[in-house]
Amino acid sequence: MPISFDPNPATVQGREEMHEIAVEHMRPWSREYDDREHEMPWEYVNPMWERATGRSGKGDSGPGDGMVTVCVQTEELCWGDAGLYLRTPSPLLGGSAVAAAGTPAQRERFLTPFREGKPKWGAMAITEAQAGSDAAAIETTAVFDEATGEWVLNGTKIFCTAGEGALEHEGGLVVVWATVDKSAGRAGIKSFVVTAGTPGITVVGCEKKLGIRASDTATLQLENCRIPADNLLGKAEVKKPGASPAGDKGFKGAMATFDASRPIVAAMAVGVGRAALDFVQEELGRQGVPIRYDAPPREQTAIERDVIEMEAELQAARLLTWRAAKMLDRGQRNNLEASMAKAKAGLAVTKITQKAVELLGPLGYSKKLLVEKWMRDAKINDIYEGTQQINQLIIARRILDYSSSVLR
Ligand SMILES: Cc1cc2nc3c(=O)[nH]c(=O)nc-3n(C[C@H](O)[C@H](O)[C@H](O)COP(=O)(O)OP(=O)(O)OC[C@H]3O[C@@H](n4cnc5c(N)ncnc54)[C@H](O)[C@@H]3O)c2cc1C
Repeated sequence: MPISFDPNPATVQGREEMHEIAVEHMRPWSREYDDREHEMPWEYVNPMWERATGRSGKGDSGPGDGMVTVCVQTEELCWGDAGLYLRTPSPLLGGSAVAAAGTPAQRERFLTPFREGKPKWGAMAITEAQAGSDAAAIETTAVFDEATGEWVLNGTKIFCTAGEGALEHEGGLVVVWATVDKSAGRAGIKSFVVTAGTPGITVVGCEKKLGIRASDTATLQLENCRIPADNLLGKAEVKKPGASPAGDKGFKGAMATFDASRPIVAAMAVGVGRAALDFVQEELGRQGVPIRYDAPPREQTAIERDVIEMEAELQAARLLTWRAAKMLDRGQRNNLEASMAKAKAGLAVTKITQKAVELLGPLGYSKKLLVEKWMRDAKINDIYEGTQQINQLIIARRILDYSSSVLR
């Protein structure tokens, strides 16, 4: 069967629409919201919300291409601006978690409000001071109160992307990972939905950062935060400590979020990398420096070799991303491919953007252009949703068939 790498017509239409948004509502505000770190960029948020709730139908995916479309559109928006993209009023990573670990009823209950009313955001809170790569070290607790039929959450979450937006706007939600039984290790970890306005969860600050500065990265405090029993994502197979969770389905369900979110982060990386590469190619064109793609290697100039390598890195990262996304669309397990895409794209975008700064000389380092910003925005793609090293570990485990207790 012939292999086609072309997205379907609906996906292409969606890409064109996102490109218009990137040009009209993102690029003009890139520098300003990089400087005004954490401020809500309404000039981008409002048109995006109108589009989300207008249900124009434009840009919706073709049959069975939902995740590929998301990746194609994400690339386009991050070509516009990765920090602003993270302010898109949508369920974001919280939505990926609900989609991956929630029941159909929970998906309906938590995600439907994102199509109506005022702009709202979703977020996912896993990381704690002592638990980043090692998510199983989470200390935030969830205790079931038999008397009220509620979960009671306590703990502190750090580096929560869109956490402030999610909690300070009606209808938003944060998916919080917590342990129901510390002695059970990873089997005790479950994910819980905390909606905006719930007493006991507070934003205690936002992180000042190197890149994606338009994005709010919040520290969240949970103090006796009470949520309904069925805000535990998935089937409530565990309700109280000591009830000995059967297997680690809850943790696996929560980890399945990454199979969907890693291709999206990879697509974000590809978008930032393409912004830098496009700009370098245009600038070299303006300066009359040709790139001869068909020149034999011994005749290529250093610049030609650099640009061709940047392009090869970008294309490889994009194809791995689309493969991981397509597998999800087909209902296939994509854990290995999601990590491959994320690891490749995270590395590619840091290399491409650094090379872009280098090739443009002092101008590349100047704030007159956005190239230095793209270099700063790039690195996060190699950190969140599993660092480069963690994704390489996952790839090695899957290829060599080692468990996480053997290869760590
Ligand atoms: C801007 C930003 C936004 C974020 N958004 C979110 C969010 O929305 N939600 C959320 O929950 N978290 C978020 N995070 C947190 C992010 O996911 C973590 O920073 C990341 O998982 C790494 O964890 P850590 O910082 O604790 O580093 P550590 O786990 O302490 O790792 C430090 C270094 O050691 C390496 N390392 C760790 N373990 C191993 C190993 N076994 N083998 C080899 N190397 C290893 C890592 O790769 C890394 O280079 C965000 C972080 C940032 C910076």
